[in-house]
Amino acid sequence: MTRPVFRFAPSPNGQLHLGHAYSALLNRDMAREAGGRFLLRMEDIDVTRCTPELEHGVLRDLAWLGLHWEVPVRRQSDHFDDYRAALDRLIDAELVYPAFMTRGEVRARIAEHEAIGERWPRDPDGAPVYPGEDRHMSLRERQALIDEGAPFAWRLDMAAAIAHVGTTLCWEETGQGPEGETGLIHARPETWGDVVVARKEIPASYHLSVVVDDALQGITHVVRGRDLFHATGVHRVLQELLGLPVPRYHHHDLILDDDGRKLSKSRGDTSLAALRDSGATPDDIARMIGVPSSAA
Ligand code: GLU
Repeated sequence: MTRPVFRFAPSPNGQLHLGHAYSALLNRDMAREAGGRFLLRMEDIDVTRCTPELEHGVLRDLAWLGLHWEVPVRRQSDHFDDYRAALDRLIDAELVYPAFMTRGEVRARIAEHEAIGERWPRDPDGAPVYPGEDRHMSLRERQALIDEGAPFAWRLDMAAAIAHVGTTLCWEETGQGPEGETGLIHARPETWGDVVVARKEIPASYHLSVVVDDALQGITHVVRGRDLFHATGVHRVLQELLGLPVPRYHHHDLILDDDGRKLSKSRGDTSLAALRDSGATPDDIARMIGVPSSAA
């Protein structure tokens, strides 16, 4: 039997906080328990927000927590060719289309519908589903817009993708979804509509790069926050379309602030760096997030 492979995959677009510490230590502990490997991956496809300084800070915080990971660390911005190859397969299969509507245009279109009393569908994160009108654009119209230099994103034609897959998709959940879902989960990718799989300048999105990398790195166990539970439905579709293996998933509790809100990178008060600067030790952090401390 091959060894289980776990990964912690932060985006270096801000400082790590207690929620990241929890996720990283849980991954490390679950890997240890399973006799598995523990990998680190830098999810830095957003090259404007992710900087070398922030990446350096992430590595420093994780080392301070007592984590050890295999090297080299996979940095997504070094592997755009891998995501481009996956995107090309989706383009060839005609399962993606260039989507030109700006955020403002989407908002306006939805406002028109809501003004006449229609309820516009929202995705599991609460964002309005993309209208998808450009799905039906003629090739000539598309080309004209591209030639004009119009910005666009590659979006998955979700209905076509689901039809192409042709079966209900599932995953094995050893943690819990927001409603306590566990065990064999039926994916509901249709609730997301036509998600972005790549940008005009960047041949990747979170959804595309995460499934490509989990497969390339041989990840067998994905352990991550519950806020990504529903996104797994999108990941299952992409895995199926691209013929990728399916890891097991474990969505864990989120660490909340005193007001019951999810911690965010923009609020520095619970950043690991700030806590360290104010004298906290790695053991203090482990205690704060309820993980048994074991720096060894
Ligand atoms: N990069 C994502 C984040 O920092 C995590 C992605 C994942 O674990 O699948 O939220």
